[in-house]
Amino acid sequence: MREYSIATIPADGIGPEVIAAGRTVLANLEKRLGDVKFTVENFDWGSDYYKKHGVMMPSDGLEQLKKFDAIYFGAVGAPDVPDHITLWGLRLPICQGFDQYANVRPTRILPGITPPLRNCGPGDLDWVIVRENSEGEYSGHGGRAHRGLPEEVGTEVAIFTRVGVSRIMRYAFRLAQSRPRKLLTVVTKSNAQRHGMVMWDEIAAEVAEEFPHVTWDKMLVDAMTVRMTLKPQTLDTIVATNLHADILSDLAGALAGSLGVAPTANIDPERRFPSMFEPIHGSAFDITGKGIANPVAAFWTAAQMLDHLGEQEGSARLMRAVERVTGAGILTPDVGGSATTREVTEAVCDAIHSSNV
Ligand code: NAD
Ligand code: MN
Repeated sequence: MREYSIATIPADGIGPEVIAAGRTVLANLEKRLGDVKFTVENFDWGSDYYKKHGVMMPSDGLEQLKKFDAIYFGAVGAPDVPDHITLWGLRLPICQGFDQYANVRPTRILPGITPPLRNCGPGDLDWVIVRENSEGEYSGHGGRAHRGLPEEVGTEVAIFTRVGVSRIMRYAFRLAQSRPRKLLTVVTKSNAQRHGMVMWDEIAAEVAEEFPHVTWDKMLVDAMTVRMTLKPQTLDTIVATNLHADILSDLAGALAGSLGVAPTANIDPERRFPSMFEPIHGSAFDITGKGIANPVAAFWTAAQMLDHLGEQEGSARLMRAVERVTGAGILTPDVGGSATTREVTEAVCDAIHSSNV
């Protein structure tokens, strides 16, 4: 029996709804596979915890999480708590504290889902966006002076280090090399931002020498939005900074049909710490409690988690089950269907047990 310990942090809004769905699916997968066991421990951290305790998680939160094999995370964000508090109080301290420097965001059009672009069906859009996840624009550095006065100043300092850029670039080239097309697009804004971004371009060229089989090119982030929309077939693996990739991957999710199907993995490639798996979407207060949150992003990221844990067979079975269900038109309203979270979850569980999935 192969055993894995998983910490769940459902947190806010639809987070608990989709993580509960994910746990159900994992429990069914466990039954189906027979030789794998997931021991799940739940943590009630998030905005409700903040309202009671004044912090999003206890001060020894990272210490508590350290012993797990993986973290399965929902979403943060509440209408009555400032977004920078929820983000900097929980998700970012975990990503940065555990040095999960590679944020990996696969995007493709699942069967049965009608994407918003004309002439773009399954097969035309199959990307992995690699987001630098430890520094850049989300370094947390900056400040404010002369608060409230007419001369008030606010700065946001983006920090790019040679170590940080080299390691994410190497990760992206390695990933591109492992994919059939061996194609990498390096995104920057090195025309306007002439320091860290130019270093990013230089490091890309250096690392490229180590990967002679990868074809790579460079794009400015603004032009990249156009290429993603008009020529999705020309892209495969994409690497970008923390901010740029944050924005591009929401666009990617929308182009693939919905944010509700977009997964993400926050990986510590060196495996010193647990990695964290979550849907890209936020807490979606507009649909919280209605039972219609799309659980597919949470399932897909569970598949990423299984893959990371070395459970490739379970991961592949889970994705085949998800594709069977979307392909059969069992979809939540965000992707044009009328199914509930529960109906999609039950259908995926049935598919997991089906002998021909
Ligand atoms: P959001 O991702 O929560 O929602 C954007 C839109 O997509 C909404 O209309 C929502 O209903 C829809 N949507 C998202 N996920 C869906 C799903 N699984 N199924 C169906 N529809 C779905 O983004 P937002 O509205 O900008 O932000 C809401 C809150 O979430 C904010 O507080 C924000 O700071 C936070 N947020 C958190 C994360 C995170 O935890 N990683 C990411 C993004 C936003
Ligand atoms: Mn985002």
